[in-house]
Amino acid sequence: MDVVRNNRKPLLLYPTFPMGKEKVTNMVAKVNKEDCTGCGICVDDCPAVAIELVNDKAKVDADECTDCGTCVDSCPNEAISME
Ligand code: SF4
Ligand code: SF4
Repeated sequence: MDVVRNNRKPLLLYPTFPMGKEKVTNMVAKVNKEDCTGCGICVDDCPAVAIELVNDKAKVDADECTDCGTCVDSCPNEAISME
C-alpha cells in the first residue's frame, strides 16, 4: 500500500497496481501455440515487455512476466492462460 498526503484529505490509501517488476502471484503467462495466430496484440499490450514473436508465435519470457494477466484479456483467440 502506498500512502499519499494532500491538502484535502489527511490520509489517502490506495493499492499499488502491478505495472512494474513486482510479481503478483507465482503464476506465469503460457501461450497455446496451436491457438496463437501471431497477431502481436499481446506483444504490444504487455506492460513488462515480456512477450515476443518467434516464428510467428507469441513467446513469454517467464523471468520478465509479472503475472499481471493483461495478455490473457488481450488475446482475441484465448491462446494465453495463467499457469
Ligand atoms: S501476464 Fe502477460 S501481459 Fe502480464 S507481464 Fe506476463 S506476459 Fe506480460
Ligand atoms: S494476442 Fe494471442 S493470437 Fe495474438 S500473438 Fe498474442 S497469443 Fe498469439
